[in-house]
Amino acid sequence: MKQNDNQLLKMRLATLDSTDSMNTTVYDDSDWKMGVLWWSALSPSSKVSHVERHGRIYSTNEVRDFYTHSENVEGCSCSLSPILFNVKTGEVLQTELIEKMDLARNEHLKTLRLSTITNQQLDN
Ligand SMILES: [Zn+2]
Repeated sequence: MKQNDNQLLKMRLATLDSTDSMNTTVYDDSDWKMGVLWWSALSPSSKVSHVERHGRIYSTNEVRDFYTHSENVEGCSCSLSPILFNVKTGEVLQTELIEKMDLARNEHLKTLRLSTITNQQLDN
């Protein structure tokens, strides 16, 4: 694993720890909790399995699980931000942001699939 990958992983894990701490101190006994909003870099080198997570909300433990696999850490330029969501309904307050991120994710996946098809055609 490269040095840069390790530094980014440390920053991500620190974000998860502070999110957990907010949930136990501020949002304890509340229907609202902080989840983790996933930001893919949406770059040509972004892995599809990471792009697919763009704009989706995960629990801190789901994110920790994801990064226990070293292939998910290598070359990953995704970032994470805490986001408030309703644990009962899944509702978020930044609906416009999530909609924009959904659009960006789907557009990027389309582009990736098109370039995969083109490359396969060139190979054949
Ligand atoms: Zn990534």
